[in-house]
Amino acid sequence: MKNIVVTGGLGFIGSNLIELLIKKKFNVINIDKKTYSSNFYNTKNFSNSLNYKFVKCDLNESLKLKRIIFKHRPKCIFNLAAETHVDRSIDTPKNFIDSNILGVFNLLEIFKEYSKYHKSKLIHISTDEVYGDIAKGRSDENHRYQPSSPYAASKASSDHLVSSYVKTYNISAIITNCSNNYGPKQHPEKLIPKLIYNIINNKKLPIYGNGKNSREWIHVKDHCEALIEIFRNGKVGEFYNIGSNNNLNNLEICKYLIKIAKTKINIGKNVKIKFVKDRPGHDSRYALNSKKIFKKIGWKSKIKFKDGLENTFLWYLNNSEYFKSIVKADIVKRIGNL
Ligand code: NAD
Repeated sequence: MKNIVVTGGLGFIGSNLIELLIKKKFNVINIDKKTYSSNFYNTKNFSNSLNYKFVKCDLNESLKLKRIIFKHRPKCIFNLAAETHVDRSIDTPKNFIDSNILGVFNLLEIFKEYSKYHKSKLIHISTDEVYGDIAKGRSDENHRYQPSSPYAASKASSDHLVSSYVKTYNISAIITNCSNNYGPKQHPEKLIPKLIYNIINNKKLPIYGNGKNSREWIHVKDHCEALIEIFRNGKVGEFYNIGSNNNLNNLEICKYLIKIAKTKINIGKNVKIKFVKDRPGHDSRYALNSKKIFKKIGWKSKIKFKDGLENTFLWYLNNSEYFKSIVKADIVKRIGNL
């Protein structure tokens, strides 16, 4: 059985990826620093599995990280560990430099050493935000990087570092750039779970600016399937966009959720939208051209947005313990946006 390391596996995408890897009979070692955005609720479905092990470790803890990797000899490392919330990157950018740049540098140094003795792949998970505002059309993998926020800039830096290690040290790494994810287990500082939380609790729904900021929404399960396909069939040194072609603005998302609440769940009759002051440097649109992954790997997103959103709403409704497991201040304080 193949050993796989997932970093950031107590978070939203990492925990969904581990669930899928375990279903596919991989052995998974989850390495996570356990920041505010991590949650043991996310791993409760598989935490007792014999194919799963959790180790608390910061990417910056060199010796510990090296020991874990050399001990478990993974065939692949999926690197999802990161600080991820744009608003927080505006408040405290240093945390983003530490985890997203220095942490990745540290992981690369260890992976470079590990690769001398063992054949393995590093899949570095990045974002469409590195391409910056895309007023028209769609950004393919050759689009210039022009990040707007400290978060996006830190991810862009790490992508460049990974790419440089492929060229200079010949390591086997691949970079993926995915669009906005939604689905179960996402921290409610992000748009969709925040709106669901507020609808369930009969609170106003805060929307930045005029609500016209448009994002490409992909279900987290589709993203995770794509990552496993890239591990199996991706070419070393390449970048792959992972998108759904499904763009919606924040106001449309909000209206969709209110409709689901009213028609399917019979709640949220009096819920109201509240427009709030926009965040600085807020990109108006991200949109990916994901033809490469389809042509070269044969992967395409499957989950229809309407179905995915409805199932996501029901998951949060049926997992009320999830919201209780998160510090209330973290839910209330943040507007709810990526
Ligand atoms: P998340 O915030 O839910 O989870 C991140 C996890 O990383 C947390 O469990 C946290 O404790 C851990 N972590 C943070 N710093 C660490 C460090 N220094 N060492 C070890 N662990 C650390 O984030 P997410 O939404 O699951 O995103 C995962 C990855 O996917 C990130 O790299 C993010 O940039 C990327 N991504 C996210 C989206 C999205 O829509 N959520 C889209 C594209 C790409």
